[in-house]
Amino acid sequence: MRDDRGSRLLKILDGTEMEKFDFSALRGLKDPFEILVTIVLGLKVTDEKCTEARIKLFDSNPKILRRGRPLVKEAVQEIIRPLGMEKSRYLSILSIHDFFDRKVPTTFGELSKIHGVGPKTAALYLDVAFGKPSVCVDVHCARVLNRIGYEGDPKILQLDLMTDLPKERWNEVNPKLISHGKDLCGPKPDCGRCFLKCVRI
Ligand code: SF4
Repeated sequence: MRDDRGSRLLKILDGTEMEKFDFSALRGLKDPFEILVTIVLGLKVTDEKCTEARIKLFDSNPKILRRGRPLVKEAVQEIIRPLGMEKSRYLSILSIHDFFDRKVPTTFGELSKIHGVGPKTAALYLDVAFGKPSVCVDVHCARVLNRIGYEGDPKILQLDLMTDLPKERWNEVNPKLISHGKDLCGPKPDCGRCFLKCVRI
């Protein structure tokens, strides 16, 4: 039988509209390497800026960024500089490039070894590149989950949710909890309007 926290989570998933997936920079991409680099390019920037940088990196002739070819540091840095966070973005791209030279990552465990690839990036990559269901818990989701009875940091919560939910519902977790957080359960929860009755507040 499902416990209180599991029932509350299902009520949120059932009662929240799925926000439209809107990361247009990834549309049409098939190559896992390009997909993961593009997600890193898109962190904290607009889709337009991300797409512009992706085209320069991957569609240039000759290609600036390719698997199996040495990475040209100066050329990559020049392209990513306008995006900000140049150093960490470059280190991520370098780490992705090195990892893909050995193996195409297909699991959270492998992705966690790549610099700058957190659970949210990993979940998005697994979903877009392989259609693999995944539970993605970031700090915004964790805040809601902690309020409805789940305990621990995002990594622990991710494992709990993978146990509590059927696989076909995993991809709903991130967009729906974020949406619930925006509407009702933000830093100052609007419990008076919420359809849940949490015991923790
Ligand atoms: S808004 Fe209040 S009642 Fe609703 S889930 Fe958040 S803490 Fe619980």
